[in-house]
Amino acid sequence: EAKKQGRNRYAFFTPELRERAVRRLSLDNELRRAVEDNEFLLHYQPIVRPETGTMVGVEALVRWQRSDGRMISPGEFIPLAEETGLVVPIGEWVLNEALMQLGEWDRDHHGGLTMSVNFSMVQCRHGGLPAMVDRALNRSGIDSARLVAEVTESDVLVGQQQYQAVFDRLRERGVRVAMDDFGTGSSSLGQLKRLPVDILKLDRSFVRDITKSSQDEAITRAAITMADALGLNVIAEGVEEATQRDLLIDAGCRLMQGFYFSRPRPAEEIEGLLREKRNLPES
Ligand code: C2E
Ligand code: MG
Ligand code: MG
Ligand code: MG
Repeated sequence: EAKKQGRNRYAFFTPELRERAVRRLSLDNELRRAVEDNEFLLHYQPIVRPETGTMVGVEALVRWQRSDGRMISPGEFIPLAEETGLVVPIGEWVLNEALMQLGEWDRDHHGGLTMSVNFSMVQCRHGGLPAMVDRALNRSGIDSARLVAEVTESDVLVGQQQYQAVFDRLRERGVRVAMDDFGTGSSSLGQLKRLPVDILKLDRSFVRDITKSSQDEAITRAAITMADALGLNVIAEGVEEATQRDLLIDAGCRLMQGFYFSRPRPAEEIEGLLREKRNLPES
């Protein structure tokens, strides 16, 4: 019986594994081509002051628009791009595009937004990141204080020394640093005090159940209080409902992001919101 099962499993796994390897290899090749042909685009998700619905900044989120029209999300290709190192040229394109876009909005008199850009630890390890950021800031003419560099908490904890070296240098230039997905890793209070961080982005997994789980509510309130005490700003991620917004306001959270306010949108739609001075969520 065991033997039969074993054989079944063998028969079941082999083609699947082979298929997965083939798919990975072809995705790898496609991704390489996508970098050459520049098949990427950015969507922007508003970061909002929840009491008024004012957009104070946006986060740039990359998408892969394939020639067949299919849109691939970063969750699908960023891990592969990290493994292959392609995240370095992709990341450089993202930063340049995001800052150029911000410059365009400035020229259309929608000044003052901040721009948050995601960085992977692979980019930090590659070296040359501070110089790359300098070039992008110079080219776009954007004030460094308006750029927020986001790194996930788990990335920070894995590559602490490289992170420290690179992000100390970015902060010397006036760039602000956000710890993304905060709460999914396990930073200690001591680490938070020492690490170069300006902003905590409270992970969606806490926000999701905040109105249903008194534990998640307690953790969230404690995280906001702690961030306040350390002089850090907090952005709650993944706010999807008014009840979550209200509870987070009550907990002292001053900045939020999530589908409740707006999904990530193409640049033209952000422009429309700015032009018509519309608050979020739209009524
Ligand atoms: P992230 O930086 O934590 O970005 C937030 C993600 O949560 C985005 O997914 C966004 O669409 C999604 N989100 C925002 N609000 C809500 C909400 O209310 N509910 C739900 N369910 N989801 C919400 P997206 O665009 O698929 O990006 C996924 C991740 O890919 C990002 O997570 C980030 O880690 C990574 N990523 C995106 N763009 C880049 C990039 O240019 N470079 C690098 N290295 N990573 C990137
Ligand atoms: Mg992010
Ligand atoms: Mg996040
Ligand atoms: Mg996330």
